[in-house]
Amino acid sequence: MGDRSVTTTEAERGALGSSWATAASAVHWDIRPFIDGSLVASSSDETYPNVNPATEAPLCDVGVGAAADVDAAVNVAKRRFNEGVWSGLSAGRRAEILRTLGDLIAERREELALLDCLEMGKPITAALADAEMARSLLRNWADCAERLLGESVPLTPGALGFNCYQPRGVVGAITAWNFPVVNVIYKIAPALAAGNTVVLKPSEIAPSSSLKLAELAVEAGVPAGVLNVVPGVGKTVGEALAHHPDIDFLSFTGSTVTGRHVMQLAGANGTPVLLECGGKSPHVVFDDADDLEAIAEAVVAGVLVNQGQVCTAHTRLLVQAGIKDELVQEVVKRAREYRPGDPLDEATTFGPLASSEQRDRVSRYMTAGIDAGAELLLEGTVQDSGGCYVTPTIFGGVDQSMSIVQEEIFGPVLCVQSFTSESEAIDLANGTSYGLTSTVWTRDLARARRLACAVKSAHVVVRTSGAEEWCNYRILSYEPSKASGFGSEIGVRGLQSYSTLKAVYLFGA
Ligand code: NAD
Repeated sequence: MGDRSVTTTEAERGALGSSWATAASAVHWDIRPFIDGSLVASSSDETYPNVNPATEAPLCDVGVGAAADVDAAVNVAKRRFNEGVWSGLSAGRRAEILRTLGDLIAERREELALLDCLEMGKPITAALADAEMARSLLRNWADCAERLLGESVPLTPGALGFNCYQPRGVVGAITAWNFPVVNVIYKIAPALAAGNTVVLKPSEIAPSSSLKLAELAVEAGVPAGVLNVVPGVGKTVGEALAHHPDIDFLSFTGSTVTGRHVMQLAGANGTPVLLECGGKSPHVVFDDADDLEAIAEAVVAGVLVNQGQVCTAHTRLLVQAGIKDELVQEVVKRAREYRPGDPLDEATTFGPLASSEQRDRVSRYMTAGIDAGAELLLEGTVQDSGGCYVTPTIFGGVDQSMSIVQEEIFGPVLCVQSFTSESEAIDLANGTSYGLTSTVWTRDLARARRLACAVKSAHVVVRTSGAEEWCNYRILSYEPSKASGFGSEIGVRGLQSYSTLKAVYLFGA
């Protein structure tokens, strides 16, 4: 382990006679740029406090970062790309190294999980599951590395035309804090599998696990300088990365407002971008769906997982009028049972929000809903100090124009609306500016097909009963709609986003 390691393996924790809390107190915080394979000093002395949202106590100070840090990282990434130390490896070899990285993530999941738990309040068991998801994602992208196949065409006798995919060069990646490890893997895995080098700017709220990932990447065999991480705030590091002239592709995960801003910065250089932004996803429940208890279970999990801080959170429940009262009763009953707890306790499933800013934002939306005349079906509480805890809120009596229906709150707030006809359900489902995901509950196959086509979102999940497996977002490629972003992610098409397509014509006797 490096000097910023966390003492968290089971054996070590056992030896300490300890718990996650003891392991947490042993964390050595050291958040600096990771450039060319090692931690280096930032060019700026300015800092901000890294705060544990479960207690609101500071964990450490972190540098805001500087454009010069970005410059240094991009220069190294460009040099390594041009040297071919990574793009020059076979796709199969790159895939092997990425699988090894996945295995290392699984081995060191406790270190990664503890960092995310402390920095953004994710319950420790959920953070451990994130590491497992990261390994599975890495494996999927590694498998795709050798499937970047082009077309070929015979021209005249003796001549051949074919396509080949080539890495773009230096990928700039900017990520959000809600799934720190997973969001980073969503960027670096396809970028590296396709042969690019990377400069990553993680969220300022949860930067540590990405630095650990970069160390593990080197341990797995990714050459130094291929994956560089520059922690810091959006205004300095994010902007410098977005408009750096030597970035060949910019991949962003975050809010729509920031995404559009970075797109403008990148656009000044003509740099292509991929945006994965916000959402306001609906559960659309028709009255032919049975097992309302199971549906209620799914609705509550869909809005409260990660305290509602998920881009695909299903924050709108659209339910056919005849079953509304019964379903809402089941939903409220279950949501009421969600009690926040200490994220370091393995029994906790619902933690604090990630920051005091996030808590205040959610609180503002709760007030806005009440002021707009929405009916409180379940009134959440907001803890003002000593922890950013907010309990679930459910609004009924809403109309489509209210901010709580239109805007992404990114917290544990659900809005319930009812409909009578299929066309009304489609209008409501499509009635926000977002288009990330949607779930339709019906047993009518023809209706399922119509909805799958009519609803504008990257994923449409049709469920007939609660017993079905949840959709696996890691298999099929998709592209967000409307304000949720653009650019393909996942699978071979996801890898194509990080590649350029070349047509080659071979003439010769
Ligand atoms: P955010 O937009 O505030 O920040 C995202 C990233 O952009 C951070 O690293 C931040 O430092 C950086 N940034 C901020 N200002 C910047 C600027 N001026 N220039 C360049 N970079 C800047 O979002 P957040 O609060 O970190 O994350 C929550 C958002 O992320 C939600 O909207 C959520 O829906 C979205 N998200 C989307 C997906 C997806 O796959 N669609 C996944 C996770 C999160």
